[in-house]
Amino acid sequence: MLIDHEKLRAVSRAILEAGGSAAGEAKIVADHLVEAHLKGHPSHGTGMIARYFEALHQGGLRPNQPIEVVKDDGPFLVIDGGQGYGHRAAREAMERAIAKTKEVGLVLLALRNCCHIGRIGTYGEMAVDAGLISLHFVNVTGRSPIVAPFGGSDARMLTNPMVVAVPASDDRPAFVLDMATSRIAMGKVRVAMMQERELGEGYIIGPDGQPATDPSIMYAEDHGALLPVGDHKGYGLAMACELLAGMLTGGGTIQPGNPRSGTPINNMFAIVVDPSRLVDDDYMRAEVDAMIDYAKASPAADPAAPVLVAGEPEAMRRRAMTTSGIEIEENTWEALMAAGESVGLSRQKIAEIIDEGG
Ligand code: NAD
Repeated sequence: MLIDHEKLRAVSRAILEAGGSAAGEAKIVADHLVEAHLKGHPSHGTGMIARYFEALHQGGLRPNQPIEVVKDDGPFLVIDGGQGYGHRAAREAMERAIAKTKEVGLVLLALRNCCHIGRIGTYGEMAVDAGLISLHFVNVTGRSPIVAPFGGSDARMLTNPMVVAVPASDDRPAFVLDMATSRIAMGKVRVAMMQERELGEGYIIGPDGQPATDPSIMYAEDHGALLPVGDHKGYGLAMACELLAGMLTGGGTIQPGNPRSGTPINNMFAIVVDPSRLVDDDYMRAEVDAMIDYAKASPAADPAAPVLVAGEPEAMRRRAMTTSGIEIEENTWEALMAAGESVGLSRQKIAEIIDEGG
């Protein structure tokens, strides 16, 4: 089905509020999820609400949990998300980090103990919108691993995403490299399974350690593993995320000595920098633009696919989908409706919200 983004925001807000979130929290989470659709990452979109409600019903996710500022000392900012909705905790943590960076020039943010914080590029976009540069390293704990280390044959890590975000001139998209360190994000495996589609070669291995393409293998009890992006290099980056986001925030790595309650927890280590402390703002933007233009001017190997830079596909998709609407496959919509029903919101009520236009 095709749905207007405002209507999807309204439906998602209503379901989250029925799940116990106050209006402000429901809006932050719903907007984050709908923005993920608009930017071409349905894997991190409204389909996740069903997952969040599994954790909610098990008591692993706490709605309306305020963040706790554990340390605010010079450039060091340590924040605990208290196992609340991670989108809200990470947004509030970044707002503090951005305000502080404007004062002191540099912040090292250690955010720990959050339920899923979603699409990590969101936080890089917050930094570049404020004229700042940011780097983010994220790990996942609380659940069983799903990514094999390079050369291994079973899962020992997670999809540990990282982000580097740098502002460009106002008339062009910022550079926002936002990537899982596995060849594909787990959410994309879920979307392929929902669409009953095989994965390409080289993305997953089965429980026997052999190459596989059936996405449902990743959801079986005796599951397989995703492979790291770029072989040993992606494995190295995933380990960097474990050590920085897991160890340095105090949230813990995925090693089995740490608890695995079943609720996925994100920890994020972020470095937020005011570039004007190092270089002149005009110089920075001109140099970023010139470098990006130089790369993009490379003649396209396939004339139908011009050279892009990180952040550009998301900006292009957002422009297109804001007017065309968001495509949601039937299985995901069903899961969303079932999540609503699990907290007492009927399909009839959701139909009324859609009819009212969001
Ligand atoms: P992806 O492979 O779609 O994109 C990765 C990066 O490559 C993006 O910055 C994108 O702009 C860029 N890119 C894409 N096509 C390009 C092209 N043709 N030319 C130049 N650059 C291009 O993303 P992914 O690795 O599948 O990750 C998807 C999302 O999942 C991310 O937003 C990530 O933050 C999120 N994620 C979250 C978690 C979590 O625990 N919260 C875990 C894993 C992934």
